[in-house]
Amino acid sequence: MHTIVQQQKKWFKEGHTRSYEFRKEQLRRIKKMITTFEKPIINALKFDLNKSEFEAYAAEIAFLKTEIDHHLKHLKQWMAPRKVKTPLTHTGSKNYIQKEPYGTVLVIAPWNYPIQLALAPVIGAIAAGNTVIIKPSELTPTVSWVLKKMVEQYFSPHYIAVIEGDKEVTQELLDQPLDYVFFTGSVPVGKIIMEKASKQLIPVTLELGGKSPAIVHKDANIDLAAKRIVWGKYTNAGQTCIAPDYLFVHHEIKASLIKKMKEYIHQFYGDSPLENSDYVKIVNRQHFDRVSAYLEDGTVVAGGGLDENKLMIEPTILDQVSWSDPVMKDEIFGPILPLLTYDNLHEVIGQVNQRPKPLALYYFGENEQDQKEITQSIPYGGGCINDTLYHIINPHLPFGGVGESGIGSYHGESSFYTFTHEKSITKQTTKFDHSFRYPGSSFGLAII
Ligand code: NAD
Repeated sequence: MHTIVQQQKKWFKEGHTRSYEFRKEQLRRIKKMITTFEKPIINALKFDLNKSEFEAYAAEIAFLKTEIDHHLKHLKQWMAPRKVKTPLTHTGSKNYIQKEPYGTVLVIAPWNYPIQLALAPVIGAIAAGNTVIIKPSELTPTVSWVLKKMVEQYFSPHYIAVIEGDKEVTQELLDQPLDYVFFTGSVPVGKIIMEKASKQLIPVTLELGGKSPAIVHKDANIDLAAKRIVWGKYTNAGQTCIAPDYLFVHHEIKASLIKKMKEYIHQFYGDSPLENSDYVKIVNRQHFDRVSAYLEDGTVVAGGGLDENKLMIEPTILDQVSWSDPVMKDEIFGPILPLLTYDNLHEVIGQVNQRPKPLALYYFGENEQDQKEITQSIPYGGGCINDTLYHIINPHLPFGGVGESGIGSYHGESSFYTFTHEKSITKQTTKFDHSFRYPGSSFGLAII
């Protein structure tokens, strides 16, 4: 580990990663790597999570390819120094911002989208001219192994390396003289990472989780709301950081929304989701026990079935829950959707705002004034109006949390800037000098 970090730092200092041509070439290379390893990636995702080929391709492989293409298209323009205005006090000088890579970046990834969340930050980090160490999640060991094999085949370890392991390995990595840490994972571990990084003042991005609400108002298109919520919640069996964690539904439309959601659950996952060969499993026994315990709360109005051997939990809707139930306390991260009802939107705003700022929020309703009120009066990372999850796949939108749901953002241009230090330069003229700034000049004081 120590040797890899030292080699990367040396290689970075020698300047190999700086040119536009090199970065462009490496982005093309990483795309080729993903394309070549498509089959092993899909197989590993099936093995570790029972992800279907469709979900593996759409949410991991295609996502990364779009992100790479977006970087290739804009990189030259992002890398160019940015001229800024010259105030009167600086007459004669040129002022600009130079884009500088940090050096050696550590990417710590979770298990739920184990390819996408390991490689999407790498795309930004190498586009910005850094070297990278990837620490994949130990909970998806087959994916972690494939990731290591493919990176070893395509990149030298002094540029991009994969170091496998658990929390001990991660903590040891954080003792190394890194230049940036990009972490995706849970809130409690995010706090540990930040504390560790602070010992060396290593800058961090924290992509965390939390409880993201979906709100369905009485003027919503109920059919589309039901369809899009079912899709957003049960994709990857609810193991998605921005999945709707719980539902706030106006009491007048509760019955019709539940009815429609049940229809879509049936349409997407069939009569017996537990027998559906494409339905994603819960990652391990510990998480299976944690998530299935939530079935004790409230009343099951859809789903509720379990298969302990396959570690599967049916797409489930829970009614009659309250904020004091365990299911409403922690992030669920599984296919259980508790439902609360309300009379007016101010109640919703008040209740959401009493809790940590969510990573995502989804509002369903036609009235633009209400849409504005929700987006303006609740702080959250990002989200959709009349949809779920879709904001994450637009490379023009920065993705990240706020407050407890995270620090910093990435995707597209935002990734480039996350991994770039903006160095401010004043290039002063030597043709003349301003006397006003020196001691004894009263004119200077007036200007400044
Ligand atoms: P996690 O925090 O348990 O683990 C994430 C990574 O940290 C893993 O690589 C793990 O090995 C490492 N780790 C775990 N404990 C550690 C410790 N004590 N010290 C140092 N490193 C440690 O998260 P997870 O279970 O892999 O993923 C699920 C969580 O991640 C959920 O909370 C989810 O919301 C969040 N998440 C967020 C995003 C996002 O983009 N914001 C995306 C996916 C998942």
